[in-house]
Amino acid sequence: MNKNTQCVHSGTYLDSETKGINTPIFTSSSFEYLDIPENVYPRYFNTPNQKTVIDKLCALENAPDGLIFSSGMAAISTVIFSLLKSGDHIVLQRDIYGGTHHFATADFDRFGIEFSFVSSNLDEIENAVRHNTRIIYIETPSNPLLVITDIAAVAQLAKSINILTAIDNTFASPINQNPLDFGIDIVIHSGTKYIGGHSDICCGAVLASKNLIAKIKGFAANSGGNLNAMTCYLIERSLKTLGIRVEKQNKNALEIARYLLTNAFIRKVNYPGLENHAGFDIACKQMRAFGGMLSFELDDQKIDPHRFLRNLNLIRPALSLGGVETIICAPVATSHAKLTDEQRAELGVTESLMRLSVGIEDVDDLVADIEQALT
Ligand SMILES: *Cc1c(COP(=O)(O)O)cnc(C)c1O
Repeated sequence: MNKNTQCVHSGTYLDSETKGINTPIFTSSSFEYLDIPENVYPRYFNTPNQKTVIDKLCALENAPDGLIFSSGMAAISTVIFSLLKSGDHIVLQRDIYGGTHHFATADFDRFGIEFSFVSSNLDEIENAVRHNTRIIYIETPSNPLLVITDIAAVAQLAKSINILTAIDNTFASPINQNPLDFGIDIVIHSGTKYIGGHSDICCGAVLASKNLIAKIKGFAANSGGNLNAMTCYLIERSLKTLGIRVEKQNKNALEIARYLLTNAFIRKVNYPGLENHAGFDIACKQMRAFGGMLSFELDDQKIDPHRFLRNLNLIRPALSLGGVETIICAPVATSHAKLTDEQRAELGVTESLMRLSVGIEDVDDLVADIEQALT
């Protein structure tokens, strides 16, 4: 099946008794165990609604197996703590999600996990590898500068030295990018973003081989970041429209990026679908389309960033991303607020940098709102 068909049909629980078209919501936390092949319990990640969502995500990511979590960070922390032990080392891309960056700097030391931050440059990644490195962890496109990392090259390097690779695939969504196809071992999503898609659900997912998921599941059951049946049902409902939502977001984002390029108040536009983007060629190799996220730098000689944000009428300054509504944020005050000035300068996150999460509205209305706020 192709992507939109998978979105609608994969994983659906067919109820042979009522013949309903949709998966029923199984609210039970208690299931009978006699004559059942495995014990079923929400914290074992094996209830019918959890399985339905996972089957759909596995189809979309071309993954043999997976787990659905209560948040993206539950997924990320479970992957880290299930596969690393004291004395191990992990190489992390520096411009990963702010929460993941903070997780490493705030918590890894206490557990004896060593870590190095690197750019998306392959030589820099290779040079950071030590004898005790177990995982290379990347994120592409990155937040908020939309830097592109060469997925296949990182996977090939890691395989040649027997190290696992993990990728945060949240920004691209499974519609635009399937990293397992390029040799990555573990795909992670904050389902709070495109997968949920309506800014009303928090969840996360991990997709990988059966072997790796079995390893991760052991610790997942102990740490207990599982998702309840009601939210699983809402995620299944959201996933049915993931394909058409993301297609519209891809189109809108490309149009807005092209408009911003021509605007005299804008200094720089970061969108991997623009031919002048440093990662354009690699993005074309590994992405089917370029996503709904972009960022741009206001000309701070001409525009006060705070005034610009207050002047917007339709596009609201808000946290998070991936919803049907277009929202904007200054990373300095939001995703990168916990970083020091030095760390932000190193990444290139300035006061006048704006990150746009493009929704599914009519693009003319979005452009008009940006235009009036700038002028
Ligand atoms: C939001 C986000 C996360 C964390 O997900 P939560 O659902 O908020 O825990 C991780 N990675 C990326 C890229 C994100 O945008």
